[in-house]
Amino acid sequence: MSRYRLLPTPAQEAVLRDHCGHARYVWNLAVEQHSHWRPGRASAPGYLEQCRQLTQARAEHPWLAVGSQTVQQQALRDFAQAMTAFFDPGNPAGRPSWRKAGRHEGFRIVGRGRQWDVRRLSRKVGQVRVPKAGWVRFRWSRAVPPDAKSYRVTMDRAGRWHIAFAVIPAPVPAPGNGQAVGIDRGVAVSAALSTGQMLHAPALTGRERTRLRRLQRKLARAKRGSNRRGRVRHAIARLRARESDRRTDWAEQASTGIARRFDLIRVEDLQIGNMTRSARGTRENPGRNVRAKAGLNRGILGSGWGLLVRRLEDKAPGRVEKVRPAFTSQRCSACGQVDPKSRESQAVFRCTACGFACHADVNAAKNIAAGHAVTARGGDGAARPVNREPHLLLQSA
Ligand SMILES: [Zn+2]
Repeated sequence: MSRYRLLPTPAQEAVLRDHCGHARYVWNLAVEQHSHWRPGRASAPGYLEQCRQLTQARAEHPWLAVGSQTVQQQALRDFAQAMTAFFDPGNPAGRPSWRKAGRHEGFRIVGRGRQWDVRRLSRKVGQVRVPKAGWVRFRWSRAVPPDAKSYRVTMDRAGRWHIAFAVIPAPVPAPGNGQAVGIDRGVAVSAALSTGQMLHAPALTGRERTRLRRLQRKLARAKRGSNRRGRVRHAIARLRARESDRRTDWAEQASTGIARRFDLIRVEDLQIGNMTRSARGTRENPGRNVRAKAGLNRGILGSGWGLLVRRLEDKAPGRVEKVRPAFTSQRCSACGQVDPKSRESQAVFRCTACGFACHADVNAAKNIAAGHAVTARGGDGAARPVNREPHLLLQSA
């Protein structure tokens, strides 16, 4: 996904905001229809039925009818895809939820040539055609992928518009050196490689964090609906957007580097979607352990781990293997001994049997590289969370 800063004129911005509002309305309508659904009941209306209902709704509501049908239909299609992902047991996606004004603003356009197109005006400026808005300028900060089939326009909480052209990233060719690497997700260190290399996802600087805390205190004191509150929220949103931009860039670069250097990439199968799910819960466990998980969730999301793994899977298709994480950090990567006491501290691993010492995350990464689905005392290899390492979950909770 390559993202560009979109620069609409005020008139175009009004059209884009309408598109966002319509897409959100239609999406939320679909959420509402599906929210009454429980296993065993007759199914909620599918995409085709919803499209017929949309036609009806447009006939009844002029404000909806003046909007772009493409935008509205696409919102339904996105929702149908999100539901499919939700029901796929192999996919960590959660149940599609309500979209809120000011928070989830965006819409998608497909159909290049018919509905949209892109052209370059000058070295630094491009234009994209948006239904009902015409040609909208954007910063040509890098080449637009020629095979882009669709795009998504979003407005972040800071009021900045972006456009992302959807394209499956070209796979990075394997180096052909036969080397495997293991990657361990850490909370303090973003990722440790079995080679000993540590990857740190960028975060806000100390000064930025101080500023963020100050703004958050200000926000708590500001009166609801006041101008001051709006300004403070805007400033907070800008800081958050800066942080997420940095992390996205980091994940792109790190994943390309790893895909280039190793033939086989093994990562822990942490099912980050499950671990970071909020009160909505999972399919199996609706909304349990919500508070206990919150601390770790922030750590995992903050480390950019999920993003890194997704990018690796895009760039090295068929070369990424997920390894069950059980005991990877209690097992000695030199002699194979499993002993919780070997993990001296969060950072230090020292084997109680052979004396091998190493950074704890690197030791775990080496186990992952070797593809050990370690099962200690009682784990049978097939049963899932029998012996899941408890400290992995407790580290920063
Ligand atoms: Zn050992």
